[in-house]
Amino acid sequence: MYDIAVKNGLCFINGKFIECSVGINGNRISYVGKEDIRGDIEIDASKMFIFPGFFNTHTHAAMTLLRGYAEGLPLRDWLEKVWEIEGRMRERDVYWGSVLACVEMLKSGITAFADMYIYMDGVVQAVGESGMRAVIGYGMADRGDEKRGEEELKIGVELIKKYDGSFGGRVRCMLTPHAPYTCSPEFLEKVAEIGRDLNVIKHIHLSETLWEVKEIKKKYGMRPAELLHSIGFLDDKTLVAHAVWLTDSEMELLATTGTSVAHCPSSNMKLSSGIARVYEMLKMGINVSLASDGAASNNMLNLLQEIRLAALLQNLRKRVLPPSTWLKVATENGYRAYNLFGGVLKKGALADIVTIDRSLRHHPVHDPASSILFASTGCEVSNVIVDGELVVEDSSVLSMDESKVLKKVEKVAERLVNPQ
Ligand SMILES: [Zn+2]
Repeated sequence: MYDIAVKNGLCFINGKFIECSVGINGNRISYVGKEDIRGDIEIDASKMFIFPGFFNTHTHAAMTLLRGYAEGLPLRDWLEKVWEIEGRMRERDVYWGSVLACVEMLKSGITAFADMYIYMDGVVQAVGESGMRAVIGYGMADRGDEKRGEEELKIGVELIKKYDGSFGGRVRCMLTPHAPYTCSPEFLEKVAEIGRDLNVIKHIHLSETLWEVKEIKKKYGMRPAELLHSIGFLDDKTLVAHAVWLTDSEMELLATTGTSVAHCPSSNMKLSSGIARVYEMLKMGINVSLASDGAASNNMLNLLQEIRLAALLQNLRKRVLPPSTWLKVATENGYRAYNLFGGVLKKGALADIVTIDRSLRHHPVHDPASSILFASTGCEVSNVIVDGELVVEDSSVLSMDESKVLKKVEKVAERLVNPQ
């Protein structure tokens, strides 16, 4: 007898699809196999795919409040407009923006996300109430000012001490300096040192645009990844977001140090940043994961949409990868990047699981991996289990009142964009 039994679905296991059932006890998967299992809660998945949860490895959840704002601008101009609104945000606003993000993510099968933002108490509260898993950090930037750097680090470290391991371990914390162009090398060196002392993940934007590469080269005589490597920032507890403009030797630095990448295809296309060379990174053995970035530069938080675009972009470059590789990028690689045993249907792994209905676009199924990769919208996700708890049932989020969230968010967004 299990706490939850997800029965008789087509399970994604080791890159293949096998018909079996999954038994969950507590927050772990305790059984994967073909026996007829029973559970306190039973989900008949006989017409569904059973999938490990998707991990959105780089986002700014509360930016749902800015969805559709500052459209049509490249990154630099876009950031200016966004920073103006963010200057008006308060903790309660971040809470409501994050709640909306959690509802949206859960409904498309995202069980875990990584967040870098401000007023993180609001994010933690949203994660706790929604039932999601998250790795969070305060977005730090010293902008070359030593005193400011000290204050920023203090907030970042206090957040870790306050929340790391909270909600039964569903919330983990990390250090998140913004980017090499908003943080000085001295500051980033200090962050790396504290990261090692505290044994936490570091997460940073890296080589998102050509402008950034040129700026860093002009200032420090090195490319962005070379700069981070020179100060000991890159290691197997580091995850860099974007990594669009890397040379082969910069990729080699990521590969040899064990640094992971959060690939954000929609955001990179929307802000005209470029196409990351994901095929080459994966071939070099870099752990590439998948992310939406914030809703203001996407405008969705939906990895089933993201994964399709990611694959199509590499296909366009004539760098075709097997569909099952992409499915691992969106699940297993994300959990690995954050040092969590999840994103796989395996005994002992975290019980973060989704069921995906077979829509009309999933008929016929000649190859389940390509069917899910290229023919899913996210709306097919029917049940979501996070940390052993059923949080989405029959496509409805059980942990949140969706209509109340939408009403509240409309009010908050209106106030932020049109202040009195
Ligand atoms: Zn970002």
